[in-house]
Amino acid sequence: MNYYLGIDFGGTEIKIGIIDENGSIVTKDKYITDTSKSGAEIVAHIADCAQELIGKSGVDQKNIRGVGIGSPGLLNPETGQLKIVTNVPQLNGVNFAEGIGSHLGLPAFLDNDVNAMTLGEFFFGAGKDFKHVIGLTLGTGVGGGIILNGELHRGASFTAGEIGHMSINADGLYCPCGNYGCLERYIGRDGIVTRFKAYQSKGIATGINEYLDNGEITPKAIAMAAADGDKLSLEVLAETGKILGIALATLTNVLNPEIFVIGGGIANAGDLILEPARHELIKRAYTVPAQAVKVAPAALKNDAGIVGSASIAVAKLAK
Ligand SMILES: [Zn+2]
Repeated sequence: MNYYLGIDFGGTEIKIGIIDENGSIVTKDKYITDTSKSGAEIVAHIADCAQELIGKSGVDQKNIRGVGIGSPGLLNPETGQLKIVTNVPQLNGVNFAEGIGSHLGLPAFLDNDVNAMTLGEFFFGAGKDFKHVIGLTLGTGVGGGIILNGELHRGASFTAGEIGHMSINADGLYCPCGNYGCLERYIGRDGIVTRFKAYQSKGIATGINEYLDNGEITPKAIAMAAADGDKLSLEVLAETGKILGIALATLTNVLNPEIFVIGGGIANAGDLILEPARHELIKRAYTVPAQAVKVAPAALKNDAGIVGSASIAVAKLAK
């Protein structure tokens, strides 16, 4: 049996796990990102944690074919170098793949976290029976990963897949990226909450107060209230799905994918968002590609980060 190590790196937390060649997690653990340390110390710490996990796992290190590292920020997947990591700037310019790989004596590969999620779904999740897969993560922002013909599409500067910054409204809200009307401004975390509050301020009744998330209206609180039948919450989620569907229709016309795999926190609302998205997609896209494409929730859930990161190595090595 072949195994792959996945490192899901984040500004506050690092998740590390080993998967087998079927995508099943053999072992996993969580570690803290100590942002008071230097870049080199962070690299050494991650490698030490990974080495210790391998030691405890019972997996023979020589059966681990490689390491996949998923990270937020701007990076170069060909060289393995991090370019801009907003919350951990001491890692800017650090070659993450080479640093961690050489500590472990294993080939290591780096990619961004949304491409990792998309690869995980492509190999082991909702996209495993398809060749043309587009992954979206709905969270604070809206991220995208594009797999065409079984290969991740990274583009000329490795920045492809910025689905959240596709404009859906020429005169829409300003986005810090420089564009107007970006998808993320409407269905990212703040966009959803802002739309909810706008309706609330018009005096539309809601039972959201029973579901507040640490006293706040959040997409999670809206999803919980909706699941219990709160009308305004249901309406805001349906509107979120409709806006998502506008973007999916454009992507369907441009790229003719077989499946959209939707992950991230608010995607847990499931068909309350996905059904209006499908409806809008079919209404707007050309008939042939619209009938060919599925809109499905991500299958990997809590383990998406580890399985996705390990899948970066699977994509490089399992040929
Ligand atoms: Zn933007």
